[in-house]
Amino acid sequence: MRIKKFAVGPYWTNCYVVCSEGKDAVVVDPGGPMREVKDFLNARGLNLKWVLITHGHPDHIAGTAEIRALASEGVAIHALDAPCLTGGDKALSRMMGTPEAVGAADCLLSDGDVIEAGEMKIRVIFTPGHTRGGCCFYITEGSQELLISGDTLFARSIGRTDLPGGDEDELYRSLERLSPFTDSLAVYPGHGPDTTIGDERRLNPFWPR
Ligand SMILES: [Zn+2]
Ligand SMILES: [Zn+2]
Repeated sequence: MRIKKFAVGPYWTNCYVVCSEGKDAVVVDPGGPMREVKDFLNARGLNLKWVLITHGHPDHIAGTAEIRALASEGVAIHALDAPCLTGGDKALSRMMGTPEAVGAADCLLSDGDVIEAGEMKIRVIFTPGHTRGGCCFYITEGSQELLISGDTLFARSIGRTDLPGGDEDELYRSLERLSPFTDSLAVYPGHGPDTTIGDERRLNPFWPR
């Protein structure tokens, strides 16, 4: 399993390509222009299965329309954030200067769902608080594992809770859901550098104690 990060769009959103040893791939959070991501998929000969979205904010979905046709299985997002794909948050889209609608979801996710892409298994962890339908994706292939944390958890910080649908108490409960993971688990956030569960447990002032 490999992961490649692309910082896309005006908010430098981390869009990730995660691919299996067998060249099946998922794109997580296509938040801006997808040219580089498409070139990468082509150059590596990867089979894009899914476009997965951690939450419906414009800076995580803006490039969805540009890449969705390449994904054989389609676009997946938690049911509670799915309306964002069809223009559910016009005010926020305008504020962020991103498209208001990028096409409806093909698959509505809920907590505990497991999506497969080749040998990779992607478990949905429902982590609301930054948005109503925010999720993290826990991805494994054999003994390898990683976590994509969206805007729930950043290196030494957490997502803001002051936008529509945000809820601080809920975000702290979501962090508690990540707490059982092992310290060595690599974490790939929606913005900024990657980290590990262990570093966040030790150094993140917002980590539940
Ligand atoms: Zn966000
Ligand atoms: Zn974001």
